[in-house]
Amino acid sequence: MILKDHDLEQVWWQRLVSHTATRDEFVFAVTTTGMFCKPTCASAMLLPNRHNVRFYANARIASADGYHACPTCHPPIAAVVSEALAEGRTQVRVLRDQAAKIRHTQKPRHLEFAVVKCYIGAVLVAFSELGVCYMALGATRDDLLIDLRQAYPHAEIEEAPPSRRDDLKSIIDFIDNPQRDFPVPLDIKGTPFQMRVWDVLRGLPVGITITYAQLAERTGAPRAIRAVANACAANHIAIAIPCHRVVRNDGTRSGYRWGIERKREILKRELESL
Ligand SMILES: [Zn+2]
Repeated sequence: MILKDHDLEQVWWQRLVSHTATRDEFVFAVTTTGMFCKPTCASAMLLPNRHNVRFYANARIASADGYHACPTCHPPIAAVVSEALAEGRTQVRVLRDQAAKIRHTQKPRHLEFAVVKCYIGAVLVAFSELGVCYMALGATRDDLLIDLRQAYPHAEIEEAPPSRRDDLKSIIDFIDNPQRDFPVPLDIKGTPFQMRVWDVLRGLPVGITITYAQLAERTGAPRAIRAVANACAANHIAIAIPCHRVVRNDGTRSGYRWGIERKREILKRELESL
């Protein structure tokens, strides 16, 4: 027996009224609300007037007829799914763009560097467009340059022009006289947590040492001692971000990225300058 549309609608209406329809048997739309539902939707408990009800074999057809999916029962329709997928792809693209932007702002594309001499040996200073983004201590210019290229593998790196001479001179003055403020803008980039740790370090008075535990406390994360130590180790602006002022909890000096001997020299110099 072939059911005519009208007969089928009669069957569906009966099943809807008696609440015997299964979930995906059909959907029904209500002309007064413009929405369609599954027969098992809670809204079907309050039966609309038969006159205002339209039946559809599935959600896709109801949707094509201009009805909206009820937010309570969410009939699955291909269009909704593909819309969600498109939305997901858009979000992924937005996130990717944001990530690229962050990478771009964190990794300068163009750096100027100079190697200068001071009481602790050679110092490599690198400038981004925004300021000093890197300072390292070492024995030789070649070693320092290798480290710089490792830190910024995608940057265009070139020798600082003569116009940097005054900046470099004032940076050497600062290293020799640690009581002074760092004389040029710093371009400090890190995670929010690293930035907090480095801020605390920069706020320490010259000649004062601090333990990792104290530093963690002042950073507002007293239990994050290991994370604080990692943030110190990740510092790539020697002296200007004074990670040399961090000592082990028993007061002895802990390691230093640029050599424990240099750390000892820098602290000695700071104490002498008081
Ligand atoms: Zn519904």
